[in-house]
Amino acid sequence: MPPRPRPSAARTLAAATALVPALAAAQHGLSAAAADAYDPAVPTPRAVLGYDLGDRFTPHHLLTRYVERVAAASPRVRVDTLGHTAEGREVLLVAVTSEPRAARLAEARGPVFDRLGHSVHGNEASGVEAGLAMLYQLAAGRDAETRAILDSAVVLLDPSQNPDGHERHAQDVARARGAFGVPSAPAALAQQGAWPGARGSHYYFDLNRDWFIQSHPETRARVAGFLSWMPHVAVDVHEMGSNSSYFFAPPMEPVNRNVPADVRKWWDVFAAANAAAFDRAGWAYFRREGYDEFYPGYGVSWPILTGATGMTFEQASSGAGAIRRTDGATMTLREAARHHYAAEWATTLAAARRAAVRVRDYAAARAKSEAKRS
Ligand SMILES: [Zn+2]
Repeated sequence: MPPRPRPSAARTLAAATALVPALAAAQHGLSAAAADAYDPAVPTPRAVLGYDLGDRFTPHHLLTRYVERVAAASPRVRVDTLGHTAEGREVLLVAVTSEPRAARLAEARGPVFDRLGHSVHGNEASGVEAGLAMLYQLAAGRDAETRAILDSAVVLLDPSQNPDGHERHAQDVARARGAFGVPSAPAALAQQGAWPGARGSHYYFDLNRDWFIQSHPETRARVAGFLSWMPHVAVDVHEMGSNSSYFFAPPMEPVNRNVPADVRKWWDVFAAANAAAFDRAGWAYFRREGYDEFYPGYGVSWPILTGATGMTFEQASSGAGAIRRTDGATMTLREAARHHYAAEWATTLAAARRAAVRVRDYAAARAKSEAKRS
């Protein structure tokens, strides 16, 4: 047997270089933030789930386990069970803020409250993975941007707005999965899911039409949670066709005439922050087209009518987690979740940096509306 060759310097260098991207990526895997600036007491997604965010769709029992483990480990996090779905799954609301404010959360006044709602349409599932990354980053991050958000905001994460529909999607895909993952052909069974689909709730009802009628347990629980906070910013995270790019507010015209005037101003503020983040990454996006702010039952419209800056985000779907697009590229769950994470981060950071003005504008708009009513 010939002696084993010693590794050449070039090979050693190549191996070391190959490690660099892994070391440079954040520990939740969805951004390029530094990997070492984390509280080691807070479990990473991989430590609890057994895989990296974006590898697969997180089923509800693992989502709740992760949320609970993070809440137990981080003094920044509080988790409340707002209610239960028709199938008995928990509707959660997770509040994350600085350690001193988290210790007396009931008295929190002054910071901006940001509500981030994920995957109300169960098969628009990349939002759930982005939300878990937001939770880890905010609970464990020690970097300047994370501190800036925690110091000026309470971030309210609704990690899965339609747990029954989302679970149906996660299980559909898991059942169709093979040893090599899911087939990316758009016509593959894995991309279709079981009839009649995972968009709606247990009753196949579209929960993103229910906010003003509130006829479903998920919505009633959510609205009670919303009214206990009165968020200044409300983001609703969705998916659209796989061949599209990314949409964020402002919406298309016509806009409902009851939308407060300051909301239009803030749409532009957040759009600029999101656009800057997407331009830096070289990702395509659009706005002012395709999605309206007219019907008051949407997950952003009803919040807007309370004075919040409500914004829909839409990401091109990765289908079953990887789908071939008409341009030949493959959209993956990780890429989809990365886009949602980037938009949520940019929006949350922009809100924190302008917290005092956003809260002042909100109070002024509410006072004006109260005066009109009396
Ligand atoms: Zn949707």
